[in-house]
Amino acid sequence: PVVTRFAPSPTGFLHIGGARTALFNWLFAHHHGGKALLRIEDTDLKRSTPEAIAAILDGLDWLGLSFDGETVFQSERASRHAEVAQRLLDNGHAYRCYATTEELEQMRAEQRAAKQPLRYDGRWRDRDPAEAPEGAPFVVRLKAPQDGETVIEDAVQGQVTVRNAELDDFVLLRADGTPTYMLAVVVDDHDMGVTHVIRGDDHLNNAFRQLPIMRAMDQIEGGWPDPVYAHIPLIHGSDGAKMSKRHGATGVDAYRDELGILPEALFNYLLRLGWGHGDKEQFTRDEAVALFDLANVGRSPSRFDLKKLQNMNGHYIREAGDARLAQLVAPQLGSDAGGEAGLDLLTSAMPVLKPRAKDVAELADGARFLFVQRPLPLSEKAATLLDDTARTLLREIADRLRDSDVWTTDSLETDLKSLAEQQGLGLGKLAQPLRAALTGQTTSPGIFDVLALLGRAESLARIDDQAA
Ligand code: GLU
Repeated sequence: PVVTRFAPSPTGFLHIGGARTALFNWLFAHHHGGKALLRIEDTDLKRSTPEAIAAILDGLDWLGLSFDGETVFQSERASRHAEVAQRLLDNGHAYRCYATTEELEQMRAEQRAAKQPLRYDGRWRDRDPAEAPEGAPFVVRLKAPQDGETVIEDAVQGQVTVRNAELDDFVLLRADGTPTYMLAVVVDDHDMGVTHVIRGDDHLNNAFRQLPIMRAMDQIEGGWPDPVYAHIPLIHGSDGAKMSKRHGATGVDAYRDELGILPEALFNYLLRLGWGHGDKEQFTRDEAVALFDLANVGRSPSRFDLKKLQNMNGHYIREAGDARLAQLVAPQLGSDAGGEAGLDLLTSAMPVLKPRAKDVAELADGARFLFVQRPLPLSEKAATLLDDTARTLLREIADRLRDSDVWTTDSLETDLKSLAEQQGLGLGKLAQPLRAALTGQTTSPGIFDVLALLGRAESLARIDDQAA
């Protein structure tokens, strides 16, 4: 059975690239009826605060990516990591290195001077530990293969080969007995039964160090098969450089809270970023699970395009339920909007607001007029528009509307059209001051919708406020 894992290091938020890695792991596992596991790589205890961990879980939850089984915390597994290092030591696949910091520095200085690659030279690989001073500190290093080459059939990158001579005997356990990242990942992947390692291609180099640990353990005790690797290209910004702060928001929470993106829009956008299925643009969750594969993950970095995400978001906003959108919009509109009546009003306004909005903030902007208190503050343009002629016209409108006993979009349209005709004016001439009086703005949803949503009493009161 397929087992994947998403293994974020907590940094304070769920990075947009991490979210896509999580998504691909989740889709791949579900596509194959397997399991997607979550491992928090919290060994950097300074950064791995409870808040940083909560931010990741929150982001995943919001995207609807629920992982299977219990979340594994890497920091809790240090003794198991050390145990594996000991197994490697006991079986001659690792050794104690007593080289001091100064010694290693000198080694690197010499390598630098000779223009050689900087790498541990294996000086304790074949030395007798008895030669070390009594009680001297040591690290444990892997006895890495020195000849031949290591070949990885990467499910995304294809065949990648590295000459083993280029790999050094890297550290597994530090002098204080704590495991290195390289060791921890391998032990955890094995113990979690991970069959497919799907992650950013910034980890491709690591795979060539992690595999030898796997293979050494497989020789020792069996049952440590190579995982399938799939290193997915990183997300780049519009200028082709690796996506970072200067390209805009990098945290999933910012897309939700600041950019008003719906989770299904981000889900779909991230899916399409680096993976495709013909020219199909929109995928439901079920479709994504049914169709996702690694073969169609591209090999070149994808460029993040905010405009495209926002357009996609507009599409999902138009598909979203009105009551749900009202809940999302209400917090941006003050306390009145959050009450039952406010939510009902917002819900009934959604069909009118949705077609024009690309994000939650634009929905809120469109709905704001519903909750402002009289007398309405006027925008500069609206104030200019409401000159004496306009105020007189508002009086006529108020008188006409006060007489009508139905108050629907249709009846209002009929009433106002006939008034416009009587006055020898185009409907637009009438709608402009009306809009200014009703919303304080010069743009809004259709004027009949505005009247209908505000209702008779509030509409007439707002018109009266501005009428001559
Ligand atoms: N913790 C690593 C990261 O956040 C990922 C390690 C892995 O996937 O093997 O970049």
